[in-house]
Amino acid sequence: MSEVVVLGSGFAGLWAALGAARRLDELGAANGDVHVTVLSSQPYHDIRVRNYEADLTPCRIPLRDVLEPAGVGHITADVTAIDPMSRTVKTSVGTHDYDRLVVALGSRVVKPDIPGLRQFGFDVDTYDSAMVLQRHLEVLAGGPHTPAASTVVVVGAGLTGIETASELPARLTALFPDTAARVILVDHNSHVGSDMGLSARPVIEAALNTTGVQTRLGVRVTAVDEDGATLSTGETLAASTVVWCAGMRANPLTADLGVARDRLGRLPVDDYLRVDGVQDVFAAGDVAAARMDDTHLSVMSCQHGRPMGRFAGYNVISDLLGEPMLALRIPWYVTVLDLGPAGAVYTEGWDRQVVASGAEAKATKRTINGQRIYPPLNGDRGALLAAAAPMLQSRPSAAG
Ligand SMILES: Cc1cc2nc3c(=O)[nH]c(=O)nc-3n(C[C@H](O)[C@H](O)[C@H](O)COP(=O)(O)OP(=O)(O)OC[C@H]3O[C@@H](n4cnc5c(N)ncnc54)[C@H](O)[C@@H]3O)c2cc1C
Repeated sequence: MSEVVVLGSGFAGLWAALGAARRLDELGAANGDVHVTVLSSQPYHDIRVRNYEADLTPCRIPLRDVLEPAGVGHITADVTAIDPMSRTVKTSVGTHDYDRLVVALGSRVVKPDIPGLRQFGFDVDTYDSAMVLQRHLEVLAGGPHTPAASTVVVVGAGLTGIETASELPARLTALFPDTAARVILVDHNSHVGSDMGLSARPVIEAALNTTGVQTRLGVRVTAVDEDGATLSTGETLAASTVVWCAGMRANPLTADLGVARDRLGRLPVDDYLRVDGVQDVFAAGDVAAARMDDTHLSVMSCQHGRPMGRFAGYNVISDLLGEPMLALRIPWYVTVLDLGPAGAVYTEGWDRQVVASGAEAKATKRTINGQRIYPPLNGDRGALLAAAAPMLQSRPSAAG
């Protein structure tokens, strides 16, 4: 009996587990010979990329619906340590041995040591934290409708911050119909969306303008409290809600593997998703830096995390059973950024050239968020295994 353990049930972990089950099926290996088990702190596959949206009802999928039909076990537990020497994983419910391990523990937003930030700042990093923000806004709406109550400061004008800020004016208007909604996007860079490049920037700026999102650029937040945020310019922004969207780092448990990590805390992996220098351990998703082509490393994204998971799942079983593995390379890169009521912006290539915007790009974003990244939900084993094939999806259509 061999044990394949997958840590995490996000985009990389779910697809690694299903990819492993599919490869076992393909090789005709009896399930009694190889167990695949997912260890995750939640019994869910969360559609994390949608956490900025107002309605999170479709964003939490029970693991029993997608893993059990494929014969994959799952245990709800917090992983606390990984020991590659003894080939064990420690969790809140005990110690688990593995023959092969896939680390897919994702990333977390980093909240720096700014006075009041950890106590009063919100985020949309996880389903739970996005729900805490939602309930906070609902509580505010049930109290006095002051200007501060209907004001949100969003810190970080990267992709998550822009998507969050763009969605908020409509949410606030629904909650505070009699008070002006105010959303202020703050960033220490002198431009919004500095990662999105020159081609997309004018589209993003125009969209924020149309949606009524204000900006404070080239400034830092120096303090947060229940009444708002203080900026490095000395300006105080009166707001009952501050949402922190700046800076992501890979799960700190990656340190346990004892190899040099990149500046985002990611593990170096080869083309087969094996962690460089660590026997029998694979990594996928935000915890891993994989080569996508001869010059580019993977980006922390579900776009890369899902195929990395599928290939890690295929390869972990192939490696265990002495069968050939498959190298992962992804020859295309796109970004589709939601701009709320102003639509979306769709870029192609690593230099992020705009190919669509407005309603056309929004239709693509809806297809991605609502269909493309979902596993089959009908409990059909064949459909789940087919969806986990180690193949690249074609790039999303720029027209919906
Ligand atoms: C608001 C928002 C919008 C985004 N928009 C986009 C987008 O438009 N396009 C895009 O490509 N990417 C987007 N991203 C990034 C994307 O969500 C991540 O890159 C993706 O989720 C990474 O997948 P993953 O499986 O590596 O990690 P995750 O999806 O974070 O999954 C990690 C898993 O590990 C589990 N876990 C973590 N720690 C432990 C522990 N100690 N013990 C047990 N289990 C643990 C978690 O519960 C989870 O199941 C967005 C992110 C956010 C927050």
